[in-house]
Amino acid sequence: MTKATLAATQATKLAHFADTVLAWFDQHGRKHLPWQQDINAYRVWVSEIMLQQTQVATVIPYFERFMARFPTVQALAEAPIDEVLHLWTGLGYYARARNLHKAAGQVVHDFNGEFPRTVAQLVSLSGIGRSTAGAISSIAFGERAAILDGNVKRVLARYHGVDGWPGQTATANHLWALAEAATPPARNGDYTQAMMDLGATLCTRSKPHCERCPLLGGCVAYATGRIAELPGKKPRKVLPEKSVQLLMLRNGQGQLLLEQRPPTGIWGGLWSFPELDMAQCAQGFAEQYYGPVAELQTLPSWRHTFSHYHLHIHPQLIQLARTRDAVAERPTCWVRPDAPGSLGLAAPVTRLLSELSEAEPLI
Ligand code: SF4
Repeated sequence: MTKATLAATQATKLAHFADTVLAWFDQHGRKHLPWQQDINAYRVWVSEIMLQQTQVATVIPYFERFMARFPTVQALAEAPIDEVLHLWTGLGYYARARNLHKAAGQVVHDFNGEFPRTVAQLVSLSGIGRSTAGAISSIAFGERAAILDGNVKRVLARYHGVDGWPGQTATANHLWALAEAATPPARNGDYTQAMMDLGATLCTRSKPHCERCPLLGGCVAYATGRIAELPGKKPRKVLPEKSVQLLMLRNGQGQLLLEQRPPTGIWGGLWSFPELDMAQCAQGFAEQYYGPVAELQTLPSWRHTFSHYHLHIHPQLIQLARTRDAVAERPTCWVRPDAPGSLGLAAPVTRLLSELSEAEPLI
């Protein structure tokens, strides 16, 4: 086969790929998700950010609450970050919410409130990578832009039999080249949604539904029995272990002290209990800064896993006999465990407040 014939065959195969995926989407794809209604760049962007690392069913109520409170990019840009974090509480990966808020400000100030259309402009916004930019550009504006989110990586790696972990540059570049080549000249928004949908509903991580997949005939992983191996897994590494005490300082009204964490680092900008190293004395700290201690109770510990380490959390419930105002480095407030108000809370705080209010309800 000559080079020209090979290129023509490849082009036909790729055109066929997009047509097949689009025909499947027309018949079977999901079209009633909240972000597929009243489509605009803002709604597509928020949904794409929420859907990173998170299932559709989990995202739907968060998306609806978010849109009800911040219906436009201007409303989001003007909102206090605390309110944005509050609406994000429970979704995890809070850097996404902080970036969303920051990028809303960039759209308002740098682009006169109009979302940019091209991938090159979109990636200049905080928290928007190449794939998210491609999704916004294609779905909201119909531009020819490729995407390569986790679902699409899985479909392409399996269909073309691409070895290697997609986190490695060489594998990622190979998959991007395939994604770019397969992106059709028309119906770009539909194609983007179709690929994400096919990956989420048919070409699932485990037990994919190959018997219903429109790509079955050309799928290398299916033909060679390598579905479970593709895409390649991230090389395993042992995560370091850290331990910390969380001080649940309680006043005479049954309220607990929260302090706002610094804007960067874990749970950045969220409200949490004061934190101490394991070697520090919880009672001594409480008495030095907040008042005499009437009782100290060590609650059961647990392990919280971040992407880069495990954190062993040791909560200490400290009943203060009297409180005095401490000179705190960071903003603090007292909250009822059953009604913490509209604050963005770190994950262990939500858990501890709800356990405490169930065990010891306040009247
Ligand atoms: S045939 Fe199976 S493995 Fe191949 S793309 Fe379809 S669902 Fe994925």
